[in-house]
Amino acid sequence: MEKVAIVGASLAGLAAVRALRRQSFTGEIVVVGAERHRPYDRPPLSKDFLTGAVTAADLALSPDDEDLGADWRLGVTATGFDPHNRAVHLDSGEVLRADGVVIATGARARPIDHIGVHTLRTLDDAIVLRDALKQSGRLVVIGAGFIGAEVASSARKLGWDVTVVESLPTPLSGSLGTEMGEVVARLHGDHGVRLLTGLPVSGLTGTDQIEAVELADGTRLPADLVVAGIGAIPNVEWLAGAGGLAAATSVPGVVATGDVTGSQHWTFALENPAAVVATLLGTEPPAAKAPYFWSDQYGVMIQFAGHRAPGDTVRIVEGDPEQRSFLAVYERDGQPSAVLGLDQPKLFTRWRRQLRSAPQEA
Ligand SMILES: Cc1cc2nc3c(=O)[nH]c(=O)nc-3n(C[C@H](O)[C@H](O)[C@H](O)COP(=O)(O)OP(=O)(O)OC[C@H]3O[C@@H](n4cnc5c(N)ncnc54)[C@H](O)[C@@H]3O)c2cc1C
Repeated sequence: MEKVAIVGASLAGLAAVRALRRQSFTGEIVVVGAERHRPYDRPPLSKDFLTGAVTAADLALSPDDEDLGADWRLGVTATGFDPHNRAVHLDSGEVLRADGVVIATGARARPIDHIGVHTLRTLDDAIVLRDALKQSGRLVVIGAGFIGAEVASSARKLGWDVTVVESLPTPLSGSLGTEMGEVVARLHGDHGVRLLTGLPVSGLTGTDQIEAVELADGTRLPADLVVAGIGAIPNVEWLAGAGGLAAATSVPGVVATGDVTGSQHWTFALENPAAVVATLLGTEPPAAKAPYFWSDQYGVMIQFAGHRAPGDTVRIVEGDPEQRSFLAVYERDGQPSAVLGLDQPKLFTRWRRQLRSAPQEA
């Protein structure tokens, strides 16, 4: 293999470049990235970047003196792909041919098309939102997932009056299960943020600027600012001509990694590229680890690892959910399947090590 093209110049794309070099690939590497920025870290965008505790310069994922010998084509978008010829079509008109292709185009925020409704995925989104948060007022966050919860937490810190609305009866139940989802969601109330659950948004009002969010039961929530945190959509449209992501990656020499595969976790985007690069180069992949993610809300560190499935039982092994500091272990057939920690980083790390990399049968 002499030339590898990586499409997507964020965490997974950068990790793929590093993995190629670490696995002794000395050939040409071209990285294509739609954003004009060098790879930067997204997790602080909803946390310290919004509150002003860190700046854009602090987000760089790669130090200035890191020389990976790659050709970075930033501000360039891949528009089409021919997997059999490993040919990536670019919006510049160029066709980039390579022996191996890493698809690392991540995901974008699911939008709500209405004036004054922000989403948060990119540095550019975060700059606009940070500016909008400079004056305080009434913020309505649509969606109580991790990003919605983090934005609510940051805005509260900045003095905003915050309401979070969630259409599901329990926030975070998909990731943490109902019982623990409820516990984590109580963080909002602890910090003076209203959480309204089980109520879908029925409409948004305001023509020149946002005025209110309306809920299915007729509740009208006046708003100066609205943020939608309603999920992410993988960036796969450029693969349509290749038959989609699964068809493209069934061709030898084509692999995918990071959020474009459906994961939404930073650690996967950091670690999985080493495995897909090993597949490309025909070397032994590193052992997979159990999935892991964290979130930071209202000063509380939330960490989760493992493969939770419906029916798993939850046991508190340390601390007290009422104090918002505890470690919970999810169990299946007497074996730990997942672990959740709130402000228990040391104990969490010990339990995380014991988890299997692959899911047990539910
Ligand atoms: C605000 C925010 C907070 C987060 N906080 C946490 C957290 O606390 N904990 C956690 O575990 N995870 C968190 N995450 C998730 C984490 O940031 C992602 O899992 C990670 O960024 C995924 O990296 P990626 O490289 O796969 O994809 P992305 O970071 O989405 O990057 C994909 C890149 O590909 C580019 N691209 C897309 N299409 C094309 C194309 N056709 N041609 C060229 N380039 C293209 C995009 O512009 C983008 O730059 C957070 C995410 C966000 C947005």
